[in-house]
Amino acid sequence: MNAAPAPADASDRLNLLGLDRKAMAAFCVEQGEKPFRASQLLQWIHQRGIGDFGEMTNLSKVLRARLEDSCEIRPPEIVHEQISADGTCKWVLQTDAQNRIETVFIPEEGRGTLCVSSQVGCALECSFCSTARQGFNRNLSTAEIIGQLWVAQRELGIGAVTNVVLMGMGEPLLNFNNVVAAIDLMLDDHAYGLSKRRVTLSTSGIVPALDKLAEVSEVSLAVSLHAPTDELRDELVPINRKYPIRELLAACKRYVGRDHRRKVTIEYVMLDGVNDTPAHARQLVRVLSQVPSKVNLIPFNPFPGSGYRCSSREAIQRFSDILQAGGLITTTRKTRGDDIDAACGQLVGQVRDRTRRTIRLAAAS
Ligand code: SAH
Repeated sequence: MNAAPAPADASDRLNLLGLDRKAMAAFCVEQGEKPFRASQLLQWIHQRGIGDFGEMTNLSKVLRARLEDSCEIRPPEIVHEQISADGTCKWVLQTDAQNRIETVFIPEEGRGTLCVSSQVGCALECSFCSTARQGFNRNLSTAEIIGQLWVAQRELGIGAVTNVVLMGMGEPLLNFNNVVAAIDLMLDDHAYGLSKRRVTLSTSGIVPALDKLAEVSEVSLAVSLHAPTDELRDELVPINRKYPIRELLAACKRYVGRDHRRKVTIEYVMLDGVNDTPAHARQLVRVLSQVPSKVNLIPFNPFPGSGYRCSSREAIQRFSDILQAGGLITTTRKTRGDDIDAACGQLVGQVRDRTRRTIRLAAAS
């Protein structure tokens, strides 16, 4: 499995994996077919995981031959698979000759969560994230994003993935159109048919894109807050200088709208001595008092040269207690797959950095 496959960008065939319902319907009409063929194609490709047009028996022979001629169903190729002691599975996927991304499957009692990447590397520079150290190469295409789910389903069986979190490499809201098209496929009854509660997009807080997302989708939202004050957040999540906490939380409120059942998940990484004191917890309670939210504390996952340590178990418990006493629903994320570097903030893939960040970081150290 370690042999490098042909680059995924080597073909000029149309990759049908990347077409959402609207695009697929337009494609069918272009082919002189009725729009309902789009549902059939989506079902074959996504619901049943078929990658060979010859098997699509309810399409005419002529159409099948035409598809075989000019189209393809091409997911990113698995170049490496690692399985953690806790059952978490990480795949390294080749997206083109120079780049690799990572996708993680997390099995739990009664559900299976797939953590999907949206970009090769990341253009943001969150100080505690190893993906950030890799720099940035490019956005993933819709086919490359949904292809991670397609591949997981092929490897694990239909129905194994019950939840998807867009929490892998990259900032999903900076790859808006491709991410939204992939989400459409995740939710489409003729494709993966997941409910909007089972698909979660995690963002560091690109405010205008968040408002745009509210117009086109109702997926669950997670926001990487990580600090209760702008001063600290500027340092940990530098995009905060552009979209400060007050604006971000106002956008979160707009996102959930008037539906009282909806809540935004606030992600908060626990960094020893940095953002984990009782005073920080009390500030967080105040900051979130007007936001329909629940808090997910994430024990920091270390990586070489990060400069941070994870908060002690006691500090996390004390922090959690203060939030709960302040009326916030609070959970602590269980660390999964850290023995294979598959935990939050440990995904690195292989990124041909185009931002010169890796050079800058090397010069600074
Ligand atoms: N760009 C998106 C998705 C990224 S990752 C976002 O910022 O939300 C998902 C979560 O893991 C984010 O909350 C991110 O801040 C967090 N994370 C990053 N590095 C981490 C680390 N080393 N340990 C624990 N969590 C980390």
